[in-house]
Amino acid sequence: VSRIVVKIGTSSLMHGNGKLNLQAIDQLSYTLTGLVNEGKQVILVSSGAIGAGMGQLGLTERPEQIQKQQALASIGQSELMTVYQQRFAAYGQRISQVLLTHDVLDYPQSREYVHNTMEQLLDWGVIPVVNENDTVAVDELDHRTTFGDNDKLSAIVAVRSHADLLIMLSDIDGFYTGNPHQDPQAKLIKELHQVTADSLKRAGGAGTIFGTGGMATKLTAAADILKHKQMMVLANGANPSIIFNIMNGEEVGTLFI
Ligand code: ADP
Repeated sequence: VSRIVVKIGTSSLMHGNGKLNLQAIDQLSYTLTGLVNEGKQVILVSSGAIGAGMGQLGLTERPEQIQKQQALASIGQSELMTVYQQRFAAYGQRISQVLLTHDVLDYPQSREYVHNTMEQLLDWGVIPVVNENDTVAVDELDHRTTFGDNDKLSAIVAVRSHADLLIMLSDIDGFYTGNPHQDPQAKLIKELHQVTADSLKRAGGAGTIFGTGGMATKLTAAADILKHKQMMVLANGANPSIIFNIMNGEEVGTLFI
């Protein structure tokens, strides 16, 4: 595996009290820098802008109004990047910010610009930190529950960049036979080759107030990955150094292959 896309969800980046989980961000920075130093190319798709914005303003509930969510994303995105910039710099790793919208990726011309820019960044050993441009992407915020908090975007990025692996970090160990928060009998599915209607039935909504997509959007992303004959691992991002275990071929989380 030489090109990896890592997606980290809001729930892994935030503490329950609404503060940014600096330790998790530090671990993530350390781990991804380690991969680059081994000669791998890494793209980070990071959520958390709205959550960070809520933390800044001391809000405990996500506002309904789109305009408020977009304003929070605008506040939080810059804070998030400041923290990433500091932590990655501590390990000597350069990063960049790439804000995307779906229409950018729908038009061949702008898609090509994005592609070329990403290739240049990776060629320079930079880690692009990708997020949806929430300030302009009204549509996405509006349909957040169906499109998911960057789950779908991370799959699109992995497909377009021909990544060898998409690592999706969530607040749960993987995909279970049912939502473990509701069904104590639910069992971890270690490997899945196909996302069927039955799999989708087993996937429920988000687990925390910060999580947004829930399992359904992760499965949709996995289906996209499988369709393009690529690989995805869904694992627990509580400790982002789990990425090292995944790269070592250890059995963690759910492997979609
Ligand atoms: P993130 O912010 O990391 O993207 P989400 O909260 O959006 O996380 O999604 C993960 C949550 O999905 C889990 O914590 C769990 O509550 C819920 N979930 C629903 N169905 C399942 C399932 N079949 N297996 C695992 N988790 C599930």
